[in-house]
Amino acid sequence: MTERLAELNVPDRLLLGPGPSNVHPRVYRAMMTPVIGYLDPQFIQLLDDTQRPLRSVFRTENEMTMPISGTGTAGMEAAIYNIVEPGDAVIVCQNGFFGTRMVDMAKRCDAEVTLVEADWGRIIEPEQVKAALKSVGRQVKVVMIVHAETSTGILQPLEEISRIVHEEGALLLVDAVTSLSGCELLVDDWNIDVCFSGTQKCLSAPPGMAPITFSQPAMDIVMNRKEPVRSWYFDVSMLRKYFVGDQGTRVYHHTPPMTMLYALREGLRVVVEEGLEARITRHKRNADALHAGFAVMGIEIHAQEGYRLPSLTTARVPEGIDDDELRAGLLNEHNIEVGRGIAELQGKVLRIGLMGYNSTEANVLTLLYALETQLLNQGFQLDKGAGVSAATTHYDKTR
Ligand SMILES: *Cc1c(COP(=O)(O)O)cnc(C)c1O
Repeated sequence: MTERLAELNVPDRLLLGPGPSNVHPRVYRAMMTPVIGYLDPQFIQLLDDTQRPLRSVFRTENEMTMPISGTGTAGMEAAIYNIVEPGDAVIVCQNGFFGTRMVDMAKRCDAEVTLVEADWGRIIEPEQVKAALKSVGRQVKVVMIVHAETSTGILQPLEEISRIVHEEGALLLVDAVTSLSGCELLVDDWNIDVCFSGTQKCLSAPPGMAPITFSQPAMDIVMNRKEPVRSWYFDVSMLRKYFVGDQGTRVYHHTPPMTMLYALREGLRVVVEEGLEARITRHKRNADALHAGFAVMGIEIHAQEGYRLPSLTTARVPEGIDDDELRAGLLNEHNIEVGRGIAELQGKVLRIGLMGYNSTEANVLTLLYALETQLLNQGFQLDKGAGVSAATTHYDKTR
């Protein structure tokens, strides 16, 4: 006899970590939509319907704008594997966990990688990129950088770096997994050549698709490669024939996860209804309120001042506080997930996400209250209610 499985029973957590963030209820409803064939004219229509708002959220006119089947890392892999060929000189900016992942991928494409480094929690300075481009001694093909470093809480300015990169005839490749629809990101105005994101951060859909966009210069490189892309699944020259089409016909490449496309489409519909500008302002306001609370609680923010990411805050674990116990208390007593520090920041910071649907006044106040309670449990000195009060003051001032 085969054992019968118990009914699925998963708690409905408040997900205030580095992602996934809570799924918007409208997105869950869209996911009940029936699966239909990948060449059904109605499905092709839905694809086009999804690509249009995707372009407007990326702020681009790029024709080659589509969802990759897979999570944010699949978007990263599609970006890097399509652009890089063996022997290419590439520069990767490395000031956090996801920069390190890009280095690994570039090396797997047999690129010659030059690093531009900064401490985890500080931005990459444009002068560093300029110096690296000069130091390589031959044409650099692409410079890779993370816009929103979810591991450190840094929002990296890109405009000046993009100017320098293009002056030297290179392409700019940007990881915008945690910034798309949560922070200002202007793909065309900032002249970004390849940009990718994920569905489970600020778009409030489940993990499973990676929006990506390629500029014309980037597509020219992809279409004129010397050797085929080393990933069959992510080969954009083939994906193009399905997602954009070839003289009006669509060619099967792989079955797109329809349910995730419905989810992405609804997530984008919510973004468009709210308005991109209003959404970005909302993320900033809630992050500022959280930070105002931390300031009076004596909790330091790890990321460099002036470059703090609204969608993810790295809060330093106060002296004498047990990080594991703190997060376990939040999870078990308040049903809230926050993230732990990773790699060199492990045990040193909490990673607090306020992404998309989750970036609300109610969530900020709930988290501050829960955090105060847990810190007091561990004997930390603070005025009960002070953090919540400072946040409400910020809300009152900005109403
Ligand atoms: C989450 C994240 C990724 C990876 O996305 P997955 O969905 O986990 O594959 C890549 N880059 C950044 C900056 C991220 O925050």
